[in-house]
Order: sequence, then structure tokens, then C-alpha cells
Amino acid sequence: MIPITTFAGKQVAVFGLGSSGLLSARALAQGGADVVPFDDDEKKLADAQAAGLKTRNLSELDWSQVAALVLAPGVPLTHPMPHWTAALANKAGVEIIGDIELFCRERAKSGVQCPLIAITGTNGKSTTTALIAHLLKSAGRDAQMGGNIGVPVLALQPFASGRTYVLEISSYQIDLAPSLHATVGILLNISEDHLDRHGSMENYAALKTLLAASVEPGGSAVIGVDDRYTRAAADRIERAGRQVVRVSVLAPLRDGYYAQSSDQGSSIVRSVAGKAHPVAQLAGIGSLRGAHNAQNAASAVATCVALGLDLPEIQKGLVSFPGLAHRMQQVGRKGKVLFVNDSKATNADSAARALASFSDIFWIAGGRPKTGGIESLAEFWPRIRKAYLIGEAAADFAKTLNGKAPTEISGVLSAAIDAATRDAAASGVPEPVVLLSPACASFDQYPNFEVRGKAFTDIVLAIPGVAGATP
Ligand code: ADP
Repeated sequence: MIPITTFAGKQVAVFGLGSSGLLSARALAQGGADVVPFDDDEKKLADAQAAGLKTRNLSELDWSQVAALVLAPGVPLTHPMPHWTAALANKAGVEIIGDIELFCRERAKSGVQCPLIAITGTNGKSTTTALIAHLLKSAGRDAQMGGNIGVPVLALQPFASGRTYVLEISSYQIDLAPSLHATVGILLNISEDHLDRHGSMENYAALKTLLAASVEPGGSAVIGVDDRYTRAAADRIERAGRQVVRVSVLAPLRDGYYAQSSDQGSSIVRSVAGKAHPVAQLAGIGSLRGAHNAQNAASAVATCVALGLDLPEIQKGLVSFPGLAHRMQQVGRKGKVLFVNDSKATNADSAARALASFSDIFWIAGGRPKTGGIESLAEFWPRIRKAYLIGEAAADFAKTLNGKAPTEISGVLSAAIDAATRDAAASGVPEPVVLLSPACASFDQYPNFEVRGKAFTDIVLAIPGVAGATP
């Protein structure tokens, strides 16, 4: 845990006592603050009390005595309307911050030089965060990974010389972290998402851009410039005098990093004033398949070059990257048949990335459908050798696919895997893939996408003759 000393002797209200809120409260208390934690969930209050914290209803507090309100990232700051604690804080002129802000202030105060890599974007945050941490570790660096990726930032090891922090940052967290000045700030991409929380696309894009715009002096903003929001952001940040490193998977750049495909597979090229040379190879790296992963990988490579890793070190790390569970995760092979768990693809847009990454697909899809179904995936129908449909969406998806690709209503995952495995093995195509990429939420049959993905993996690994896949 990183004790927070910047509020020593001051009263700090903490609302939202999930894992990161609870840690904020404990870290503040350990650093000498007078912490007042609260939640409106009885169970969370009990957890906090069990952790030795004295909880109190924040509606009873004298807010004129409060130095700051620390909000958990899930609690609405502005949209659809401010949470009642935020309204009380606003009325009393009390600043509202999050755990990332506590971390950033402590980092600045500590005087220890610890590079901070902050990653945001609409898609690819977790993959890029995990990849950068992996590249650093495999080059022998001390890398601490956390933030939105699951480990609350204050749970990481305290500041020490030579230690690099790699943090996934959601837009909610940026909103609550005005002192977030990263050594390398990465903005991968911006597309519509979470507008319920941010009110408008402009607000959302402005927040995401802020992370890259406010890198520390001497730092760099690594920006994927393949959409109009990030392209504009890169130009603006550069005009403001910051170092900008551009990344593209759509087109070569005169200055920056871009992905290039050839018969040998895809590689990452660095160009400086029009002089281009390859810096990394992605060919044969299953965990980084697909153009979307090339964007993640190119951003990670650009970051690691900025941090002083050499190219052979980076290549070695890329090759051994295991990937993240449930995101186009290669879980096993039987003969030529590859089994891929993409359970995280809970909507059509996400499933599109996986469908674009393979050619002969035995596709397991379905679950609780999202608005729009799978109509938007029409360009991929020629790649579907057969679809095995499960859950509530099965009949509808079968209708959409009627006449476009063979389908079978399997109902449940085990039946779908059985049939897909049999058909894939008999297909005679060079690289058959049994792909779970449901384009649906899991809630009709599973508590969440992780449990669904684990069910897929367990069933696949129990098939006689299946060998677990290495990255
Ligand atoms: P996030 O943390 O931003 O949700 P993840 O790394 O967990 O992103 O990836 C989630 C899904 O988003 C992946 O399964 C893939 O479908 C898609 N994805 C990953 N990287 C990108 C990218 N750079 N651009 C677009 N989509 C992506």
C-alpha cells in the first residue's frame, strides 16, 4: 500500500467503499488524515469497519471542515446528476478527487523519480497497460501495474527509485485527477462510449485528451491518430509545445510509429522525418493478432522506446506476451484447430475485431443481445464457416444469418463447442478457429463475461487431445 501523507492532519471524506475506495480510506488514515468513510451499502460499511475504519454518514458532516471528498470512480460526479455527496462538497466549495489524484500528489511530494505511464482510450486500455508492464518486466525493470485494470493504484508498492508505474485510467478517473501529469501519457483512440456519464461526446473527448495534454515537462504524449478526435488532439497538444508521438495502423506516418502488413505478417515501423525503419515484428504473436492489437502494440513499443528500452528487449517481451484472459485469448489447439476465448466481446463492435482477425471461423455467438444485434457484422459473413448460436439471442441471430452463413441453434456453450470442434476438425481448411466471440452480454446464462469465458476454456481444455496454447 502507498500511504497518503498529503492530507495529514486534515479531514477527508471518502464515499464508495469498494476495493479502491476502501484502500483510499486506509492509505489516507495511515498517512495521518482524519478519514470519514461512508457508503450507502450496509455490507460495504461493515467491511470498512472490519478494516478498522470509523464510518460516519456524510450527510451529518460539517462540510466547512472537510479538506477533500474522495469519490470512488463508479460514483457519478456530474452525469446524469451529481451524487449527493458531490452536491454537498460542491456547495461547501470542497474539492472532489479520486485515488489517482491521491497517488499523483504523493508521487510529486515523495521526491522519488518514478516514471508514470498513464494509458487511456475508448478501447484497448487493459491490453496496452498489461503489454507495457510486461515489456518493462521482461526487460528487467521494476514495473507496477494498476488503476482501472483491477489493482487499485494505492495497493501498489510505495515509491522507490527505478520503479515505474503503469496505470490504466478510465475517463471517470481523469475527471477526478487534476494533477495527473504522466511521464508518458497514452491516448489510444476515441469513439462513442459512456456518454451517459459524460453528457456529450465533446466532454468525453476533452477528458480523454486531457490525460495526454497534461504530461509532465519533458514527458511525451503517445497518441493513436486513427480517428478524428485523437488526430485533432495530437495537433493541439503539439501546438501547445508538448512532445507528441503519433501512432497509426491505417497509414504510414512521416513522423511516428505505424503498422505495416506484408506476406510475412505485420510489423511496426518507426519513421523520423520520412526515414522509416522496422522496430518490431508482430508476425506469429497470437496474443497480438489483429489491427486493433497492432495499435496497442505500436503504442506500447513507442512508450518503451521513450523509456529507453532497446529494440531486442522489446521484441523479446512482445513474443512472450501472454495476452489478457477473455480477449481473443488462445486457449488451446487440437491438431490444426485453434480455440479462442473472446468472451469480453459483449457487443457487435467488439466481436468485429475478432472476426476481422481470422479467416475460417466456427463462430460461437449469442447470449443476451444488445440493441442492433449483429446486423453491423455483415462484412464478415464470408469468413463464417458456421455459426453455433446460444442463449436468448440464438433465434434472432439465426434469422440475421439466414442465407449468409450456415447456422445451428446450440442453445448452450457445451453443445456449441462440441459441434464446432467436430465441424472444424472435419473442415479441411488450413487454420480453422473455434471462436467464442458472443457479441452479447452473458447475463442470461452466466453472472459475467469472465465466468462465461472460463466455462469455455474449461470445456475446451477437457476435450481429449487438446493442448493448452502458449502465447
Ligand atoms: P479496454 O480496457 O479499453 O476495455 P481491452 O484491452 O480490455 O480494452 O480490450 C477489450 C476489447 O476491445 C477487445 O476484446 C477488443 O475487442 C477491443 N479492442 C482492444 N484493443 C482495441 C483497439 N486498440 N481499438 C479498438 N478495439 C480494441
